Parts: sequence; C-alpha cells; structure tokens
Amino acid sequence: MLSTIALDTQVLRPGLCTGCGACQGLCPYWGSVDGRTVCFFDCERADGRCQRFCPRMPTDLDVLRKQFFPEDTILPEIGPFLGLYLTRAADESIRSKAQHGGSMTALVELALKEGFIDAAALARSQGGLNPEGVLASTAEEVRACSGSSFQVPPT
Ligand code: SF4
Ligand code: SF4
Repeated sequence: MLSTIALDTQVLRPGLCTGCGACQGLCPYWGSVDGRTVCFFDCERADGRCQRFCPRMPTDLDVLRKQFFPEDTILPEIGPFLGLYLTRAADESIRSKAQHGGSMTALVELALKEGFIDAAALARSQGGLNPEGVLASTAEEVRACSGSSFQVPPT
C-alpha cells in the first residue's frame, strides 16, 4: 500500500492524528492547514518514512517482540518483559500527588538532576478531558505533570 494512503486510511480518516508533526518534519509533501495534517502530493512510494515514523500507525507487536525479547520472557497474560518490579517514589511529597506510586515523576526528576536529559516531553492535566503537552526542564515543571492523563496529548 502507498504510504500516503496508509496514513490517510489508518490515521487521518479515523481521527487518530495528534498533529505531532513527525510526518511534516520528515517530508515536504506533508503539512498542516488550519490545524489539520494534510498531504500535498500524490506520492507513489510504499513503506516511506511518513508511514514508518507516525506514532499513530498500528504497531506490529509480534515483530517487536521477536526482535527485543527472548522467548522465555513472554507471559501470555502480560506479554513480553525483561524484568518485573513494584516501585514507588521514596519522597512522600511526590507520592502525595501521584496516581499510584510516583515512580515516573521521581525517575524524570532524577534524570534531570543527574544531567542525563535536558528536558522531558510530558502530559499535564488541565482538569478536563484534554491534557496538554509540556516540555518540562525543572523539577517543578515535572511535578506539575504528576498523576495520570488517560487521553493522548499532542506532545
Ligand atoms: S513516502 Fe516518503 S516521500 Fe512519500 S510522502 Fe511519505 S515521507 Fe514523503
Ligand atoms: S506523524 Fe503525527 S502529524 Fe503525521 S499523521 Fe501521524 S500523528 Fe499525524
């Protein structure tokens, strides 16, 4: 199938495009008009970068599984894994605002503090059904994203 048709039928028409801009950044045939992702050219290429990089295209989980996980680490109930841990943040002030244990907030804060990352693309609840995407580069900005957002934000 042509890449543009695959994106159109599996992402754009079903309303799954988040406007992340990946296809637009990769190829001049894609752009944004009035906030909607559109293709400007009848590209005849199959398996192109727009299709492969779009985060909303279906993922071939079997291929990923075989590539990254040994056969004996796959449980039918939960799928593949490399290790299983129960975790929570040691910091009570993180846990008090967490959905569960605050592990993600603690890990992102640590990564910033240790200099492993400059910033993290996170989701911040706005109180309703539409969380917003945030580029957090301080511990305060990370903590403002504590808790879970159950919708896909345009990060
Ligand atoms: S297949 Fe390649 S050239 Fe064609 S629209 Fe997609 S990214 Fe652009
Ligand atoms: S790459 Fe991003 S902007 Fe392009 S179709 Fe997929 S979700 Fe939409």
